[in-house]
Amino acid sequence: MKLENKVKLRKFDEHDILNKVRWINDPENNRFLHYDLPLEYEQTKNWFEKNKENKKRYDAVIDYNGEPIGLIGLLDIDLKNKKAEYYITIGEAKYRGKGIAEKATDELLNYAFNELTLKKIYLYTEKENFSAQRLFERVGFKKEGLLACDLIYQERKIDRFVYGIKYSEYVKTDLLNETPIQKLELSINDNHFFIKRDDLIPFSFGGNKVRKACLFFNEIIEQKADIVVTYGSSASNHCRIVANMARKYKIECLIITPEENYCQTYNSELIRLFGAQIIKSPLDMVKETVNDILDGLKKQEKNPYFIQGGGHGSIGTQAYVDAYNEIINYEKKHKLHFDFIFHASGTGTTQAGLICGKLINRQNHTIVGISIARKNPYGQKVVTESVEEYLKIKEISIDYFNRDIIFIDDYVETGYGAGNEEITQMIRTMLMSEGIALDTTYTGKAFYGMKKYIEKNKIKEKNILFIHTGGTPLFFDQMRRKQ
Ligand SMILES: *Cc1c(COP(=O)(O)O)cnc(C)c1O
Repeated sequence: MKLENKVKLRKFDEHDILNKVRWINDPENNRFLHYDLPLEYEQTKNWFEKNKENKKRYDAVIDYNGEPIGLIGLLDIDLKNKKAEYYITIGEAKYRGKGIAEKATDELLNYAFNELTLKKIYLYTEKENFSAQRLFERVGFKKEGLLACDLIYQERKIDRFVYGIKYSEYVKTDLLNETPIQKLELSINDNHFFIKRDDLIPFSFGGNKVRKACLFFNEIIEQKADIVVTYGSSASNHCRIVANMARKYKIECLIITPEENYCQTYNSELIRLFGAQIIKSPLDMVKETVNDILDGLKKQEKNPYFIQGGGHGSIGTQAYVDAYNEIINYEKKHKLHFDFIFHASGTGTTQAGLICGKLINRQNHTIVGISIARKNPYGQKVVTESVEEYLKIKEISIDYFNRDIIFIDDYVETGYGAGNEEITQMIRTMLMSEGIALDTTYTGKAFYGMKKYIEKNKIKEKNILFIHTGGTPLFFDQMRRKQ
């Protein structure tokens, strides 16, 4: 990540005029820019003189290792409505595709949101400018709509998309910086093992539930909900994360939990610490209890927001489409390909996100969800339904085959939370040899399942990625029980 220090923004000055003229006149750059060509030096100098004190715009140069390589800035800075339009051009072709535009955009958004205290940044992009759209989506802009016949340029009618990013989304994407991927010492059948550390997401001991919760809370804040209601067992990582995030945003939190098998765990203690209200319900009455509680809250003029157990649903799926994008970025950067991606599968949301990411990006990873509780055909069916629901909501039509959905139920033992001596032993070994903590309920069970699966299917000489989906507090429950 040396790149971090190399990309700098500085205010556009007189000495940059020549570069601007050269970049804009380069046919490689100007296809989507809509300038009156050719751009002249004198005209650009006049533009500069006229605008250098203009508070309604911010024009900057992207410096890469001290060399000016492109333009970036804000237009129509509107302090009343707290918004501005963003633009970017990488002028030097050889510096494209190196992540410089992402870094420069991040710097600019930081300036716009934190120094100018704007709340929304938007941009326009030609409908056909696909590579730019990929960049905008990577850095967190969302497509907001299509403006038909928005411009007429060189006698061509041009449709443009408008994209936007709000401050609340920017802050959230900040929490979800790419998680590290590291190589393991572990060796089985000459396979190379890598691990993606979603357990290190910097919020409340991390884990896949943080990725999901960040997206749910965007909506919760947007809808001005005043109480979050969700469901989970006493060991639930999801409930811990939701309770912690609700506390952070000063929103009430109510957790419904099955009274059977209720026991004190570090997660349940943390949930209490965060001040969430806990309501116990018989397992077979959960649906009714949830509905009664939501009705009751509405009658009290409350505005509740319900999150399904485990953060299930299309928002949760989105979280792992995003994580999948991080994985393919990593592959590009390090010029390597993962043949397999393994992870613990519970509600199937994580798996559905990875599969949707794979389908959308037309990749060929073999994604294997190791079930931690559910048996087939139910387990696989839920993943399939989640994939279909997400693709439908996003209006993406893709043919896929059931063989894309590999939900392995061979290692669930006697159910949720149940392990065996071999798993416990393996967890100890992993901590001692790699310094990585797994737990019996999720990641340890899945890691064990992955090893067995690799042996059983005689997988050899492949690159294998395991996603560490978190659950660190469960590791300590395990320790406590042992003594
Ligand atoms: C919830 C959870 C999972 C399972 O994720 P799903 O999206 O529900 O399949 C895996 N690992 C950990 C640590 C979890 O907390």
